[in-house]
Amino acid sequence: MEAGKYYIETYGCQMNEADSEIIAGLLERENYIATCNPEEANIILVNTCSVRHGADNRAISRLSQFKSLKKTNPDLLLGLVGCVAQRDRGKILKEKPFIDLVLGPDAYRQIPQLIMNKPHSFVDVNLSRREVYDGLMPFRNSVVNAWVSIMRGCDKFCSYCIVPYTRGRERSRSVKSIVEEVKIAVNDGYQEITLLGQNVNSYRYKEYRFPELLIQVAKIPGVKRIRFTSPHPEDVNARMLEVMRDFDNICKHIHLPLQSGSTKVLSAMNRSYTQKRYLDFVANIRNLLPTCGITTDIIVGFPGETAADFEETLRVMDEVIFDNAYMFKYSPRPNTAAVQLTDNVTEEEKAERLNRIIAKQKKHTTFRNRQTIGTVQSVLIDGSSKKNVDEKIGRTDSNKLVILKEGNADIGDLIDILITGAPGVSLFGKIQKS
Ligand code: SF4
Repeated sequence: MEAGKYYIETYGCQMNEADSEIIAGLLERENYIATCNPEEANIILVNTCSVRHGADNRAISRLSQFKSLKKTNPDLLLGLVGCVAQRDRGKILKEKPFIDLVLGPDAYRQIPQLIMNKPHSFVDVNLSRREVYDGLMPFRNSVVNAWVSIMRGCDKFCSYCIVPYTRGRERSRSVKSIVEEVKIAVNDGYQEITLLGQNVNSYRYKEYRFPELLIQVAKIPGVKRIRFTSPHPEDVNARMLEVMRDFDNICKHIHLPLQSGSTKVLSAMNRSYTQKRYLDFVANIRNLLPTCGITTDIIVGFPGETAADFEETLRVMDEVIFDNAYMFKYSPRPNTAAVQLTDNVTEEEKAERLNRIIAKQKKHTTFRNRQTIGTVQSVLIDGSSKKNVDEKIGRTDSNKLVILKEGNADIGDLIDILITGAPGVSLFGKIQKS
């Protein structure tokens, strides 16, 4: 029997999306059902992100909007969960006393108990050294790709990043429970498995490291595609690349966050590599996996970044020619080490540098995309084009978006597509007849 309806709004990274699926799994187990309409929900949870300025403000203002729903539904349970709950635990209930639940990322297991007790002003933001949500099945949103969280937390302490403080220290799930979850996902019809972790390739469980885990997952019958995100450059070793090379079902795409091309800035960011080491990582990838897509993250305007430092970032971009990039202006995040540094790059300089790297990346993405014209790419169809719902879309092995211009395919099909054009950020193609 239905216990009620729940509505979850999620901000931020894929880890947060995966956490929302775990929370949904817990609620479904208690016979709650999902709704897209907050007005008919008995439980509203906002899963927040504190990594980027803006997402945190948006999430908190959404809660204030939901407050009015309590007038028509006094039993409505309103909760703030995730990284902002963890970060702002001291002040959030003082500022927003109408919130019933404040839960950090390691406190979700108690949600079924809490919703029975209908708490008010309940806070649990304890960080755990062990919680990996083993044994909890997520209630998945997607139809083709299953996110499987394999580790949580981070021990790297990059100076601009709040994650080690909001998500705690690194810990990994057992191989057995990951393999079981993947088998269930395959049985449920998922074609693609994406292994998730804050530093996914820092995975370590007993004698297993990330490459050994990859092998165990790749060998599971029926797993058509495996992806992983996000790796740390430091842990992209030869063994990992060899395993990627040896298994056809492991996609040839690595997201390799650069952050800055300047060794001086990298050191201030507490990134563990220099420019040269980063370029060596790229050379190793190209050597062992020549067709591998390489994408990245770049921050401009970190405190102390001079014009010469910024030129180094441009130089690395020109040398690597990334397939794609997420690019940001630095903004100080509360409670991070970098907040102590003088934010001495002006907003105008930050904006100008950001515009320059965006323009450069656009050219590089176009260049990389055009290199695929005339090739046949294996594409997993995962949806329809927003511009034209009659056109199916999918991703290549190297994670490029393809719009199917000729031929029919169903969602979930893994098919060969001849790339016929690359007019912008996506590729056009037609089904390759065998
Ligand atoms: S590696 Fe650095 S940027 Fe990534 S989560 Fe850890 S501290 Fe944050």
